[in-house]
Amino acid sequence: MTTIASRLQAVKARISEAARAAGRPPGEITLVAVSKTFPPRAIAEACAAGQTDFGENYAQEGIEKIAALFELLRQRNASPERPLFWHYIGPIQSNKTRAIAEHFDWVHGIDRTKIAERLSASRSDDKPPLQVCIQVNVSGEASKSGVAPDTVLGLAQTIMGLPRLRLRGLMAIPEPTPDPALQRSRFRMLREIRDELLRRGVALDTLSMGMSDDLEAAIAEGATMVRVGRAIFGERGASAG
Ligand SMILES: *Cc1c(COP(=O)(O)O)cnc(C)c1O
Repeated sequence: MTTIASRLQAVKARISEAARAAGRPPGEITLVAVSKTFPPRAIAEACAAGQTDFGENYAQEGIEKIAALFELLRQRNASPERPLFWHYIGPIQSNKTRAIAEHFDWVHGIDRTKIAERLSASRSDDKPPLQVCIQVNVSGEASKSGVAPDTVLGLAQTIMGLPRLRLRGLMAIPEPTPDPALQRSRFRMLREIRDELLRRGVALDTLSMGMSDDLEAAIAEGATMVRVGRAIFGERGASAG
């Protein structure tokens, strides 16, 4: 087994264990393997081990790697048995919305109306709607990314009116902390915002939260997607970001 395959197996075991501890079926948690900064051959190893969902943070890098990966798999005559899903999880610049809408299946970090409108306008009709999450700031002043909790409903309503987007849920990147109680309280806040939206009739099935160091806390609070990079692919090189 390759290193990536064995790390992937270890992460899946952590997910199952955390789900069991929370009394949840492990099958309701999707693992997004965050491949930012890693080359296509690393992604190919994860594919060979059965991984289907991949996350990228930078539009240009992600798009080039998607193409390079399929070329690599073609040369090796190793097409994946199941379709792959590409998740754009990074900050969204407005001049990149067309490229993102053309190449990705999911966008996790929507934080303003203008970006949502541009993504919807650029999503071609021959693809399914872009699956999207609103990024919420659950860390207060410690973070600048994501919308304030009291503005989530308005943005959700805007997105529901856009024809080529499908609102799936909420995403958060809490500030890193080794304190499990603080980790849980940030994730709990995102779940409570989701619950409030559900009460107001907004249909959401996704909570995208939890990374290499805090996926247990996220799953305990209801994560349905965890985004895991280092625990699968190893440490990212300092120069590569
Ligand atoms: C890099 C990144 C991850 C993965 O983080 P790890 O600590 O490598 O697991 C998850 N989500 C986002 C938005 C990221 O930028």
